[in-house]
Amino acid sequence: MTLKLGVIGTGAIGQEHIRRCSHVLQGAKVVAVSDINLKGAADAVKRLGLDAEVLSDGKEVINAANVDALLVTSWDPTHEEFVLAAIAAGKPVFCEKPLAVTAAGCKRIVDAEMNFGRRLVQTGFMRPYDQGYKALKKVIDSGEIGQPLMLHCAHRNPNVDDSYTTDMAITNTLIHELSVLRWLIDDDYASAQVIYPRATINTHAKLRDPQIVLLETVKGVRIDVEIFVNCQYGYDIQTEVVGEKGIASLPEPASVLLRSQAKRSNAILTDWKDRFIDAYDAELQDFINGVINGELTGPSAWDGYAASVAADACVAAQNNPGVVNISLPPRPAFYER
Ligand code: NAP
Repeated sequence: MTLKLGVIGTGAIGQEHIRRCSHVLQGAKVVAVSDINLKGAADAVKRLGLDAEVLSDGKEVINAANVDALLVTSWDPTHEEFVLAAIAAGKPVFCEKPLAVTAAGCKRIVDAEMNFGRRLVQTGFMRPYDQGYKALKKVIDSGEIGQPLMLHCAHRNPNVDDSYTTDMAITNTLIHELSVLRWLIDDDYASAQVIYPRATINTHAKLRDPQIVLLETVKGVRIDVEIFVNCQYGYDIQTEVVGEKGIASLPEPASVLLRSQAKRSNAILTDWKDRFIDAYDAELQDFINGVINGELTGPSAWDGYAASVAADACVAAQNNPGVVNISLPPRPAFYER
């Protein structure tokens, strides 16, 4: 069977996902797209060599008779509406993170999916598909370093543009750590605090950069995450897990060790698309396979909701010098792994 996909949002990651579904992955083809910028969508269809219709809005894509499943890759505030419409149409939907811009929005999606009675939603958290994170989790789960006690993490981008504001350090960037770390150590968050070091000269008036987020989990693990989105030097994701008997670190991406011009060096990636390219392939192949086999097993709407509950608390902590409590309701049986 070839799964017929509709894609809503043909910006940077929309085009990346269309490319991989059309030219890299097995079992799917893109038959319809839309974007608020219709010309951009038409240009993308042409450039990527697709035989796909350009429809005038996302709801048309969702309801198109020839579309079996959806990819939502549009602007964050549109995700909730499109995912709810996909659930109402009974069609599986892969939604880029964040699932919705607030926890309340994610909860509406969780409720709609549970009312439908079967999983239809995969949230676009790709890090659990990354070989490095998988290897790190395997070490933690083996017990070799004992129970995790502390995590030291960093999320650094070379730079961001003027539309990136202080809260986006949480909703757009930290959301990846909030999602992957609870999976990594099988835990949930209990509280958050945000502190601001001296600001870099390379930021702008609407962005406090860098920031440090301090999290405490339900099991008492302490996590610090540095978010530094104008670090200049590269796209650099770090995770170090300190356990009772040892320390395990996220592997660095493979790169050639170079001896040249009186220096020994390794290149550092600069583009997020390259850093997780294999993980994006794997998450979408998993979605395609899951839809074809009738069972989605990737990050769920509940995972999107849990990350958003923590993100809401971190945004509150950005505007409050104290510690903000995080309270996630118990996971419904519907979402048991
Ligand atoms: P982008 O390049 O700005 O693309 C977003 C696209 O959505 C743009 O073409 C935008 O049009 C369009 N759009 C806005 N409102 C729309 C609507 N109502 N209906 C249809 N299309 C609409 O951004 P991006 O980097 O691709 O990000 C897209 C989404 O993917 C975001 O939610 C982002 O958080 C997520 N993302 C995830 C990852 C990851 O690592 N998993 C990485 C990057 C992005 P205009 O340009 O005309 O506004």
